[in-house]
Amino acid sequence: MPNVVVCVKPIPDPRHWDRLFLDPETGVLKRAGIPPALNPLDKNALEVALQLKERFGWEVTVVSMAPPDTTKALREALAMGADRVYLASDKALAGADTLATAYTLAQLIRKKASPFHLVICGNISLDGSTSQVPAQIAHYLGIPHITHATHVETEDGQLFTITMNIKKGELVFRCTTPFLLAVTKDVNLPRLVNVMGIIAAETKPLEVIDARELELDLDKVGLKGSPTRVRGLFIPEIKRRREILTGEPEEVAEELLNKLHEAGVL
Ligand SMILES: Cc1cc2nc3c(=O)[nH]c(=O)nc-3n(C[C@H](O)[C@H](O)[C@H](O)COP(=O)(O)OP(=O)(O)OC[C@H]3O[C@@H](n4cnc5c(N)ncnc54)[C@H](O)[C@@H]3O)c2cc1C
Repeated sequence: MPNVVVCVKPIPDPRHWDRLFLDPETGVLKRAGIPPALNPLDKNALEVALQLKERFGWEVTVVSMAPPDTTKALREALAMGADRVYLASDKALAGADTLATAYTLAQLIRKKASPFHLVICGNISLDGSTSQVPAQIAHYLGIPHITHATHVETEDGQLFTITMNIKKGELVFRCTTPFLLAVTKDVNLPRLVNVMGIIAAETKPLEVIDARELELDLDKVGLKGSPTRVRGLFIPEIKRRREILTGEPEEVAEELLNKLHEAGVL
């Protein structure tokens, strides 16, 4: 059965971000005690996969790397319609940067979700927000990648037409499987979970896999295997200017327009 793999990242629930803090020593984001939620764009990625499943009968496999207390959040992916979840979780993986994360996820895909037709990611996570992981996973898997996807079309499930959003327009690609796709929010509207989905999710497989089972090179994972070094942390200073314009309304409006033009706002 052809397989589509979706990379889903559990992130700290944005409703509790006032409790997040950065460790000034290591530069690592401290998430302890904050309940996990699925990265919003990963639900768009999952929706693409579920629509392919409905059309072509493909199986949908979710892969993730996260602490073990994220399994409840990952059940939401099963409730949406995914067939199974593989979660790479191990102390050795803690502190991973994007490269170590991508290496681990690629190895998880190789070991547990291959052969695959397609790997689908969100274009960016809400917490780390580097947008680096999708291209790095594709690199490790040795497949092409298309990011910033706003539209995905296929007639036969093999040849895909993908529209990519760029700053001043769009690029359209034709690509045959296997490849990696990273999607933006414009690609679709993810389905809501219903009661039947929640009940079905309880009995679907969710397997937690450790570093040994993945046969990972331990020099390439976790903080030890992460070449990124946080050199410094600072809170950006936001400078604001204030000016009160006085005079007749027409004069004030004209002066305001001039100032906005000068500042490059209009
Ligand atoms: C020095 C350093 C130390 C760090 N230590 C930690 C730490 O201790 N704990 C921690 O949680 N983070 C840590 N991070 C952050 C961690 O590197 C990133 O969260 C992670 O690599 C993903 O990067 P991103 O969020 O920028 O992903 P992006 O590239 O913005 O994500 C894009 C897409 O890739 C996929 N994806 C990304 N990450 C995952 C994942 N884990 N599982 C499944 N799919 C995924 C999703 O589809 C996502 O939408 C650290 C970062 C640095 C630089």
